[in-house]
Amino acid sequence: LIELDRAHLVHPVASYRGHERMGVRVLRSAKGATVTDDAGRTLVDGFAGLWCVNAGYGHDSIVEAAARQMRELPYATGYFGLGSEPAIRLAAALAERAPGDLNHVYFTLGGSDAVDTTVRLIRNFQTVRGQPGKDQFISLEQGYHGSSTVGAGLTALPAFHANFGLPFDWQHKIPSHYAYRNPAGSDPDAIIAASLAALRAKVEAVGGPGRVAAFYAEPIQGSGGVLVPPRGWMKAMRDLCADLDILFVADEVITGFGRTGPLFACTEDEVVPDLMTTAKGLTSGYVPMGAVFLSDRVYDTIADGAGEAAVGHGYTYSAHPVSAAVGLEVLRLYEDGLLANGRRAGERLMAGLRDLADHPLVGDVRGRGLLAAVELVVDKARKTPLPAAADPARRIFDRAWSNGLVIRAFGNGVLGYAPPLCCTDAEIDAIVERTRRILDQTLE
Ligand code: PMP
Repeated sequence: LIELDRAHLVHPVASYRGHERMGVRVLRSAKGATVTDDAGRTLVDGFAGLWCVNAGYGHDSIVEAAARQMRELPYATGYFGLGSEPAIRLAAALAERAPGDLNHVYFTLGGSDAVDTTVRLIRNFQTVRGQPGKDQFISLEQGYHGSSTVGAGLTALPAFHANFGLPFDWQHKIPSHYAYRNPAGSDPDAIIAASLAALRAKVEAVGGPGRVAAFYAEPIQGSGGVLVPPRGWMKAMRDLCADLDILFVADEVITGFGRTGPLFACTEDEVVPDLMTTAKGLTSGYVPMGAVFLSDRVYDTIADGAGEAAVGHGYTYSAHPVSAAVGLEVLRLYEDGLLANGRRAGERLMAGLRDLADHPLVGDVRGRGLLAAVELVVDKARKTPLPAAADPARRIFDRAWSNGLVIRAFGNGVLGYAPPLCCTDAEIDAIVERTRRILDQTLE
């Protein structure tokens, strides 16, 4: 398998050749919050795959929902005014649970095309309302909004831009709220004030509110290193966008579906976005699916636009019935105890990781619910990052693996955690204990 992999399978982001030094591992099976590899080794999956298997592995009821739908109607297009029962029922169930008037749901295949969908629908919205010049988009440094060309442009990771001619000249960034390394200091009010000032300044720099279509933010920045904004940050940014007539898009691809506690993280900040993107936990990784939520105002403007061409955006697999059937069953599981278990497990995880703060290598512990990070430094007072030349990400990932733990190791020595919501107390404790062991071994 390894030979075939090397010869033929192109891995996402980093090639096999990039991973060759530590070796590629093949996963065989999974159950609950654990995965088993080719060598028969069972590990706690502290990252739920790629922050997506929120419900955990091995739910027969999800498998049965998919099989039933495949037998009955494996495919139905949403084109030509057609539809399928699971897609309609899932849209209605999600709209009922979404914040505010986010009553309209557009299903995609994942998060990147959900982000693409928002960009296209927002351009359409601005055009239909007679403001086609409102065509500039703003997002945050350290933000991640996907790997499609448009999503990668909104994303602020250098590897997604170099060699690709990105971002587009209509895609702009402002600094993150990143509390641990914020030039404005760590005071919440100062961070919020700095972000508001940065957004105002960027809007002016690109030609004023008449030119800016939308601002994108994750309720907690995931791939940037699990950066949690201060309480009130999202509300303040959302309100400024409303004042400036700029659409506020909450990218909940990671934070949605119980990852931070509630079904949608923006509800914790009392924010109702104009649009919201979700994916990952929507189907818990069993099948691909994303969902874009649109407010009444945005949807009604577009839908009343130009007859049959009004939305003007569609995929062959928009609103796939099998994915929708899985989504319905996953939602049932969340509300049948998984969300509650996730909240309990999240408190235990955060408490356990906070206990690691006195370790000589730990500079910062942050997170909410089952979305957390530990940032390693070699000098706590100076917040000196681990030397990049030592390749901390790869070494830590490898070390975690030999300790029976899967975590995300970011390039700058940040460890990311996003275990499934079904985690038991023993599994949460194992995640924390094994992390301490990894840190001790890193110190050696
Ligand atoms: N937005 C955010 C916030 C994400 O974290 C991700 C994926 N990690 C995406 C968009 C893209 O989603 P996908 O990988 O499903 O295309």
